[in-house]
Amino acid sequence: MKHIIIGGVAGGATAAARIRRADESCEIILLEKGKYISYANCGLPYYIGGVITERERLFLQTPQSFGRRFNVDVRVENEAVAIDTANKTVTIRKANREEYIEHFDKLLLSPGASPISPKIKGIDLEGIFTLRNVADTDAIKNYLTTHDINNAVVVGAGFIGLEMAENLYHTGANVSIVEKLDQVMPPIDFSMAALVHEHLIQKGVSLYLEKSVEEFEKKDDKIEVKLSSGESLIADMVILSIGVRPETKLASEAGLKIGTAQGIWVDDYLQTSVENVYAVGDAIEFPHPLTGKPWLNYLANPANRQGRIVADNMVFGNKTKYEGAIGTSIAKVFDLTVASTGLPAKQLIALDIPYKSSTTHSSSHASYYPNATNITLKLTFDPQNGKIYGAQGVGIDGVDKRIDQIALLIKTGGTIYDLIRLEHAYAPPYSSAKDPIAIAGYVASNIISGKMPVIYWEDIKTADPDKFTLLDVRTTEEFSLGSIPKSLNIPVDDLRSRLAEIPADKPIYVFCQVGLRGYLAQQILVGNGFKEVYNLSGGYRSYKPAVAIIRNTKPENKKIKQQNSVQPIMEKILKNVIKLDTCGLQCPGPILKLKNRIDEIQEGEVLEVTSTDPGFARDAEAWCKMTGNTLISNTDENGKYTVVVEKGSPKSCKTLTSCDGKGKTLILFSQELDKALATFVLANGAAATGQKVTIFFTFWGLNVIKKVKKPQVKKDIFGKMFNIMLPSSSLKLKLSKFSMFGAGGKMMRYIMKNKGIDSLESLRQQALDNGVEFIACQMSMDVMGVKREELMDEVTVGGVATYMGRADEANVNLFI
Ligand SMILES: Cc1cc2nc3c(=O)[nH]c(=O)nc-3n(C[C@H](O)[C@H](O)[C@H](O)COP(=O)(O)OP(=O)(O)OC[C@H]3O[C@@H](n4cnc5c(N)ncnc54)[C@H](O)[C@@H]3O)c2cc1C
Repeated sequence: MKHIIIGGVAGGATAAARIRRADESCEIILLEKGKYISYANCGLPYYIGGVITERERLFLQTPQSFGRRFNVDVRVENEAVAIDTANKTVTIRKANREEYIEHFDKLLLSPGASPISPKIKGIDLEGIFTLRNVADTDAIKNYLTTHDINNAVVVGAGFIGLEMAENLYHTGANVSIVEKLDQVMPPIDFSMAALVHEHLIQKGVSLYLEKSVEEFEKKDDKIEVKLSSGESLIADMVILSIGVRPETKLASEAGLKIGTAQGIWVDDYLQTSVENVYAVGDAIEFPHPLTGKPWLNYLANPANRQGRIVADNMVFGNKTKYEGAIGTSIAKVFDLTVASTGLPAKQLIALDIPYKSSTTHSSSHASYYPNATNITLKLTFDPQNGKIYGAQGVGIDGVDKRIDQIALLIKTGGTIYDLIRLEHAYAPPYSSAKDPIAIAGYVASNIISGKMPVIYWEDIKTADPDKFTLLDVRTTEEFSLGSIPKSLNIPVDDLRSRLAEIPADKPIYVFCQVGLRGYLAQQILVGNGFKEVYNLSGGYRSYKPAVAIIRNTKPENKKIKQQNSVQPIMEKILKNVIKLDTCGLQCPGPILKLKNRIDEIQEGEVLEVTSTDPGFARDAEAWCKMTGNTLISNTDENGKYTVVVEKGSPKSCKTLTSCDGKGKTLILFSQELDKALATFVLANGAAATGQKVTIFFTFWGLNVIKKVKKPQVKKDIFGKMFNIMLPSSSLKLKLSKFSMFGAGGKMMRYIMKNKGIDSLESLRQQALDNGVEFIACQMSMDVMGVKREELMDEVTVGGVATYMGRADEANVNLFI
């Protein structure tokens, strides 16, 4: 018996070794077009980033060692170029382009997938790479060592793109990620990806979502990456990670059936449409066990398992069936672990499958034991019988084991009730007596039974706020650090005595930080006769990142400073630091502990607080500003946030906005370039002194905050007329004096550029980065037919009352 295998890495090498173990006497030829076989392609990004230091460690076997151990005729740099299924032959091309023919009894195709390289102008420029194999890795590594890479752009935010972003960051590069979708990590739902966005931004990575690359252009020794939004990024190097497609050319030319998902079609035994010809790995499509629909699954575990199954079928006849994969995957994104299995909500929606979901935040292990961190778990399940469809997890530690357990349950048809029944190995360093997946199971069962009706973050974002009451049941301290707009704050412990404050004539959407206090409040309200009460799934912890607006700061043309261990920095600059460990506590625990400890110490003393709550760092910063304490440093390492605060003289104010009444509001009524410039200069100056600044854009001022590339919107006749008459964006604004039909404006921009003064657009972005609030006047928008979609994403729309609210808290109000 003579077996030929095409492709010598995951599926191919596994199959070759297994065939030999099953049959000592057969002949096996392993064809590989590259120079290497059986290497760790999953480790390639980590070698590029220097995490894996020795190149040799990537190679599990050399062609020689593999050949000797398994008695396989390994032929590297031998590419299969044609298959004749009738005569059972393969035409093979050697590196010197010589061709020869081999006969087979059984043939296996494991040619993998190839990276998508779209037809973008300039895509072949030097410094632009894709990553699939060792040759690509060597090319990238060589470029990194021979060039000064200060700025890198990664196009595509799938798991390989994100792994590359992290590893380029480890080389000291400023990293920007460009992604066509509105989220990173396409297999997971937006609300879970939003946690990854938050983390990437915290790490200093710039995120350009819902933007695609239109062109690459060489600019001296750099590459200009031009985006669909009109922005452009300057990079020393670009990694394209837009996705892969199954390598089916050889198979389709040989007449093998290609399926509806564009992979090689195989039956349950992994045999193709031709007898004795099999296929495995990234190149095949196979029905999804939950949907029954064929799909492509580019993962190493299925490729390896299929290699083993197919080997048995090639040796013993078609006896072992492959059951299919549900897409269980995991990736490290800086300090986070992101994992998923089964079907996320977005896929269930696309397939029109009814489902419910639950989001829970729990500790990776007992919160009182050091270094506990948060795990966010999202479950999707059948709303009737609780059958689990999918799970996604994001956290620092312990995400993998939870997702693996749920994956096993999904593959065996398990339900959310099985999550509660699972028996866990428990001791404080490893888990809690109620494990995160048991908690997820309890919450999901409360949702199904109707005990805890839920709403989701997107319901609140899209619904009419006048039609429900938003009730924040967290403490007043948590509330003052940020809440959902228009919320009423009644802490859960005060709820029973303050029921009269809650309108009884409309639905109540209750929320807390993670969902538990919200659930308790919901039960209190229902017990006191309130009818429609919903708890926000995942609480404010899920809502906040999901609605956050991403703002990027322009990277400098120099290497980033890596955050090393916090400890040496502290030791160097400070002596006698008072330490406070709040790890394992969820909000508001850390911030309350910080406040209590600061109350106890003397002015000028320094407190170092460690926390594993991802929101703590930002909360502490805001808290310091409003209480008159000084934030000395704010660092993070492996999911642990360390904040150092020097106690200052106390302020009596309670909330950020009313603090000292020192807010500033500016009304921009004009569409003239010079007036708009003055507005942003003033706003930036005020914001730099830590004051709350709001700009209210009304009438002609709306033209200053229009997008350059606007989506198509429907307008009435007057809207269309205004559209023609008004400047289409800030780039078209004219001067108030000496406009000279627009030439004055151009001259002003030219002079500003020459004198190194920031442009209007740059000052506007700085204002946003400094936290200046942009409010567009609803009434002016209606009058002038301006739609929300035409304005910058960061703008909120409000009425006179909103402006008056801000003006009330300010001591300077300017009309420009
Ligand atoms: C950078 C990177 C990181 C990854 N990380 C992960 C991860 O963390 N987890 C995970 O589950 N998966 C990961 N993957 C995906 C995983 O590696 C693949 O799913 C798996 O290798 C697929 O196995 P395969 O045998 O189908 O293809 P491959 O392992 O890609 O092997 C195919 C081989 O076939 C050869 N070949 C193709 N055509 C011919 C021909 N005509 N003649 C001869 N040889 C040919 C190719 O040169 C290639 O070496 C990663 C992939 C990459 C590139």
